[in-house]
Amino acid sequence: MNFRNFFPDYCQKQDTLSYNLQPPVVFRFLLLFFFLFSIICLHGEIKPSSIPLAEGFDFPVAPPNADEFYKSRGFRQGGHLGEDWVSINGGSGNSLGKPVFSIGRGMVILARDVHVAWGNVIVIRHAYFEQGETHFIDSLYAHLDRIDVKEGDLVTKGQRVGSIGNNHGMYPAHLHFEIHKNLNIGVNHTGFGKTLLNYWTPTEFIVKRRSCWNKPGKAILPLSHFDIPTPWSHTPKKHHSKKRSKKH
Ligand SMILES: [Zn+2]
Repeated sequence: MNFRNFFPDYCQKQDTLSYNLQPPVVFRFLLLFFFLFSIICLHGEIKPSSIPLAEGFDFPVAPPNADEFYKSRGFRQGGHLGEDWVSINGGSGNSLGKPVFSIGRGMVILARDVHVAWGNVIVIRHAYFEQGETHFIDSLYAHLDRIDVKEGDLVTKGQRVGSIGNNHGMYPAHLHFEIHKNLNIGVNHTGFGKTLLNYWTPTEFIVKRRSCWNKPGKAILPLSHFDIPTPWSHTPKKHHSKKRSKKH
């Protein structure tokens, strides 16, 4: 192939100026640069979107079996969409600051104070293999006193992620804990059916999956997202008193 047939004017100009570096060499360097740059960028995007499969699930307080805790309030379709956990020894009064643990391997996809009825909340996305398929759930830990992880962190089963709180004094201290089948729920109950189509009964889910098929490898994180309350959507304090009686 004669390069001059394709770029006659350019080659002529280069010849006139007697450049040592010929155009094809420059183009090759540019192509190589963009190729390497695109690989680095793609790698950066793919890496955080995969998570290791969970090998099983434990309870979020006093793991593995929550022996030192009891449910002060259970899951009910159409009503309370999670479980409230408090310390057996001393109840809510002795629960403040007790550690909260990830129920399984997963990635922290939300870890912040979203105010309103939630307060400090963590959502962890988990993948597990069951009956020949990879399934996903979100576990949610609310009203926390402390958050010890950040969004994007990969966590293991039994890893401390925070501590039990009272949502800035709004409730008696307890852990409000949910498991979502529908990964679009996040911290928004409104707009999703309050049924077992969208939620798991937390204790039932964990008891049935203390040990999952431990397939080595990773699962690609689903690209589902949920809305996160913004600081300006913070419910005014005068409304808080109405919600005190409606404990999450
Ligand atoms: Zn609750």
